[in-house]
Amino acid sequence: MTMETKPHAVCIPYPAQGHINPMLKLAKLLHQRGFHITFVNTHFNHNRILKSRGPNSLDGLPDFRFESIPDGLPPTENKADATQDIPSLCESTEKTCLDPFRKLLFQLNDASSSSGGAVPPVSCVVSDAAMPFTLKAGEEFGIPVALFWTISACGLLGYTQYENLVNKGFTPFKDESSFTNGYLDTLIDWIPVVNDIRLKDLPSFIRTTNPNEFMVKYVIRLIKLTSTGSAIIFNTFDALEHNVLEALSSMFPCPIYTLGPLHLLVNKTQPKSLSSIASNLWVEELECLQWLDSKDSKSIVYVNFGSITAVTPEQLIEFAWGLANSKKPFVWIIRPDLVDGDSAILPSEFVEETRERSLISSWCPQEEVLSHPAIGGFLTHCGWNSTLESLSAGVPMICWPFFAEQQTNCKFLCDYWGSGMEINPNVKRDDVEKLVRELMDGEKGNDMRNKAMEWKHKAHEATELGGSSLVNLDNIISKVLVPSS
Ligand code: UDP
Repeated sequence: MTMETKPHAVCIPYPAQGHINPMLKLAKLLHQRGFHITFVNTHFNHNRILKSRGPNSLDGLPDFRFESIPDGLPPTENKADATQDIPSLCESTEKTCLDPFRKLLFQLNDASSSSGGAVPPVSCVVSDAAMPFTLKAGEEFGIPVALFWTISACGLLGYTQYENLVNKGFTPFKDESSFTNGYLDTLIDWIPVVNDIRLKDLPSFIRTTNPNEFMVKYVIRLIKLTSTGSAIIFNTFDALEHNVLEALSSMFPCPIYTLGPLHLLVNKTQPKSLSSIASNLWVEELECLQWLDSKDSKSIVYVNFGSITAVTPEQLIEFAWGLANSKKPFVWIIRPDLVDGDSAILPSEFVEETRERSLISSWCPQEEVLSHPAIGGFLTHCGWNSTLESLSAGVPMICWPFFAEQQTNCKFLCDYWGSGMEINPNVKRDDVEKLVRELMDGEKGNDMRNKAMEWKHKAHEATELGGSSLVNLDNIISKVLVPSS
């Protein structure tokens, strides 16, 4: 393929770690198939990556470039390393990003005219589905926009029900008592595929008494806009979510492509030139891999609540004592901003008691940790990437969903995929202790591990030659992103 004929994909993730990671992987896969890539972060995250990975970390390659646009939020100087507020980000990106994005597309096309083919004209946009302003830009430039839902298909199925839940009067909640009086256990019986789902298993933004809740209205808008994309992409695999995907196909007019687990696809095929391009917003601490090397097979509990979850100081203490009392060795990743409003303070007795059998770190290479033979179980918040990375590594989970569609992932993990056990949201040390012991030594833990191993095999199958995700990748390129190829 010559420079002149290269297709040019502009890839734009929603500005949060769990969205940037899978989008970067997809961008690498497209690059490998001959695309010129422009990857668009927000200024805020662009600067964070430079800070965490070094000043040259976003230099890219001549045909894999990084650009950035503002996210529209006011600067937060004193919290430059902290997770941004998700509803505020949704509101500001929706209101402010179209203009800078449109300008960027103009600039790229201008550069194309003046570069003698070094930068090809933009031929398609691969956009996070939570950045739907890109649809308007795509329409103006006459190019396809594929919408990447970086969540699970079951999570999206939950979000498609928001309009129904409003219309049927399930949300907003009547008053504060609805949070505690059993209302959340209400069975929702009209959703395709799942006939035993409860209100509390649906994505959590409906848990509000506010009739004007921004996130509910925002999600309803996103779902409508999703229908207008050129395609929908999921980071999942057919064998895992087949029924849900079928149900979604009848709800959306555009084709759906499952391309996951993307990290497996990328790991199998990534050339050396791309391996240094990464997207961590926190500095990765590698010593946990060495620590794990010295441990027995499947002996370690891995605890990590992802990039957004915030716990209260009380919850932190309950998790800590639960882990300590289980007597199991563990790796616990405590982000600098994990604890609400303050830095995490662990009791010195806990630190003393667990010193010999624990490692506490602030950010780790999670994919590698989860696939390390020493890991026996994962205490997780059920973020979709974490869930998929864990299933792909055959690691069973204790689920403590925090927000958004994590509740739905938890339901599917526990009741349909057989690889998770839920812990009471109001976390208590005795529950943590009991479930950790069950996860690592119990019969149920063993069954969950066997089931997770089955998913691992199926995930690998999907990403091997002839596997559904690899076939879908070729199809989305030839049918949507470069239709004439
Ligand atoms: N992650 C990581 N190191 C950590 C914690 C998280 O590399 O210490 C990565 C993890 O592998 C995943 C992403 O950050 O790809 C978190 O995404 P997820 O959907 O699990 O949760 P979120 O952060 O969006 O809540």
